[in-house]
Amino acid sequence: MYLSLYRRHRPGVFSEVVAQEAAVHLLRREIASGKNSHAYLFSGPRGSGKTTLARIVAKAVNCPDRDEEGEPCGQCPSCVSIASGDNLDVIEIDGASNRGIDEIRELKEHISLAPFSGRFKVYIIDEVHMLTEPAFNALLKTLEEPPRTVVFILATTEPHKVPATIRSRCQHIPFHRIPLPAIVETIRKVSASEGVHIEEKALWEIARESDGSLRDALSMLEQAVTTGLPSVSLEEVRGILGGGGRSDLERLLPALRDGSPEAFRGFSELFQRGLTAERFLEGLFLLFRDILVAVLWKEEGIDSLPLNEEERSFVRSESGHWRESDLWKALDLCSATLPRARYGLKGDVVLGMLLGLFLAPGSKRDRIERKKEEPLSEGESPAKKAAGPGVMKKDEEPLPSVRVETPGDAPTPITSTGAGDWGDCVAAMAADNLPLYCACASSTSRKDGDSLVVVFPEEQRFSFELATSPRNLAYLDSIRLDRFQGATMELACGDRTVLVERAPEGGIDSLSVDPAGAVPSPSAGFRVTAAAPPTSGPEGGRREGKGGEKRQDRLMEIQKTFNAELYVLRDETAEGSDEPEGEAAE
Ligand SMILES: [Zn+2]
Repeated sequence: MYLSLYRRHRPGVFSEVVAQEAAVHLLRREIASGKNSHAYLFSGPRGSGKTTLARIVAKAVNCPDRDEEGEPCGQCPSCVSIASGDNLDVIEIDGASNRGIDEIRELKEHISLAPFSGRFKVYIIDEVHMLTEPAFNALLKTLEEPPRTVVFILATTEPHKVPATIRSRCQHIPFHRIPLPAIVETIRKVSASEGVHIEEKALWEIARESDGSLRDALSMLEQAVTTGLPSVSLEEVRGILGGGGRSDLERLLPALRDGSPEAFRGFSELFQRGLTAERFLEGLFLLFRDILVAVLWKEEGIDSLPLNEEERSFVRSESGHWRESDLWKALDLCSATLPRARYGLKGDVVLGMLLGLFLAPGSKRDRIERKKEEPLSEGESPAKKAAGPGVMKKDEEPLPSVRVETPGDAPTPITSTGAGDWGDCVAAMAADNLPLYCACASSTSRKDGDSLVVVFPEEQRFSFELATSPRNLAYLDSIRLDRFQGATMELACGDRTVLVERAPEGGIDSLSVDPAGAVPSPSAGFRVTAAAPPTSGPEGGRREGKGGEKRQDRLMEIQKTFNAELYVLRDETAEGSDEPEGEAAE
């Protein structure tokens, strides 16, 4: 019979148990002294070893050859039959599938019978919090007066759901999440004993993904071994995990930090491979936290992180690129958005919000862009000024010269149509129309006669659909008129093309009312025609109106485009406030 890695390498005696020293110590002492309890409640995260330890307890209380420290021999008929699940005195019940009173009644009848061969009958009820109320009541009666020959071991991931009356009759033994290094060590040993070579990076990727569950780690290892024999690489592990692990996030973080289109492209790919917004946020949260620790406490902080050497050096080098305030903001955003992600907030939206955060006024990217845009020439079109990522504030010191890198796959400029360059247009959208920016970030442009063709990757049809919504077409039309001197502009994705044409009568503002009327619009539609030239006030042209109006617009855009999600964006550097700048309800 084939046994899974997890079963084959399941600890059989106390000394083999990984990382639950306190629980093991206590149980051994009690059993060795012959004063074991008649009811235990094992609580802790899944995969932390509760049922494994319950079986070892069953062996220990029944083993005729256990040593004076409570360790069962593991070899006598009793130990062997318990290990193989054939011992009639050890009864395992899954509380999730046997939740009713009938099962517990049956159990009560069974309990009154004497053990078949051992000294104790051991009942292991897993997921005990799933029992129904009548079942709990029946169980309670048994626990009130347990026969001397019975040991109950109740296991649960959610002890607070176990009635207090039951809990108070049990000895409660908490299990903790197995630390990352312990999981790494265990799967390293298991692979070695299976004769499998596994890359160090792959080992860490699995361990991290297991989130403290040794069972999960071993089953991932098993999958990796099945596909990757005789050696397992990081690539294979990534394939199994579906992307979005620590190494993927590390790979894309620099692009995200710099607001480069590469970030959007890379993450879109991961989302298509099944990365969920939840996983994305959790992973990023930890990554930002680690970098913040490095920023705050330098080497001492880095040493304290549960990371391997390579991950440490990544965190070390990243910490030089981040400001503490930006990291706090990123952490805030991740933790505030995570609950929404659990209810289906899309990964793209989260990504857009993050990009918005890093491209926001005062961010590193913003400062670089401002340098790039300086100085603005007199004859420049208002749209360019308004849509551009910003104008140098008067009170701000000039920045040292920064080399601005062109994002990968630099689009071809259309020289014959004048001033326009698609890449610039896309960069400008980041400040002005975030959803469209996200949609266009992975687009490329080519010249086709007098026409500018904007091409969306075929696998990103959603980006194309988003860009061709009436509002966005109107926006693009204004770009066409301002930046490309009215040349024709076409959006293409696979075999579909859409011509960008003149905006409807009444201009773009006529589109500002949402057709569904769902979202009241405090500001009239798009900024392109609003296009106020930079004011000469101390705030410069970057911010319009009072503080967060522009941000509010972006939020509205995201909200409309992605069907109303609730989020709060906060910009602590913004004028006058720790008040949330934008809030939108479902
Ligand atoms: Zn034994």
